[in-house]
Amino acid sequence: MFARIDHLGIAVESIDDALALYERSYDMVLVHRETVESQGVEAVLLDVGEGHVELLSPLGPDTPVGKFLAKRGPGIHHVAYQVTDIEAELVRLRAAGIELLDETPRTGIRSSRVAFCHPRSTGGVLTEIVQPAEGH
Ligand code: ZN
Repeated sequence: MFARIDHLGIAVESIDDALALYERSYDMVLVHRETVESQGVEAVLLDVGEGHVELLSPLGPDTPVGKFLAKRGPGIHHVAYQVTDIEAELVRLRAAGIELLDETPRTGIRSSRVAFCHPRSTGGVLTEIVQPAEGH
C-alpha cells in the first residue's frame, strides 16, 4: 500500500536558477542537496508539509533526466509514493502487471531505497516507489 505522496520530481536545467522560484518565491525550505550518481542527477529536496519537492538537474545529456529535458523541456518528471516495505510492494506491483524499470531497489536520495515503474504501464506517469532510510 502506498502510504502517501513522498515527493514530486521536477526536471530543471539549473538547480540554482530553480531555487529562485522554490526558495524565494514559494518560500520553501531546502532540506537536502546531493549528487545521485545512480540516477545521473544533482538533486535537492524542499519541504512542503510532510512531503517534498525534488528538483533534478542532469549530470549530462545522456542521463535519463538529460534526455527528458531535451525531449520535453523542464517540468514535472515523476511522482514518488512512499512505502514501508519496498520488496513486498515490488512483488505486489509486478503481480498487478506494472512494468518495473528496477527489478530490485536501488539507492536514491538521502540513502532511501527506490524503484521506478515504466510510464507505459502507469498511464504515462513515471512513478517512483520510495522507502525512506531510517530517520527520514
Ligand atoms: Zn524522486
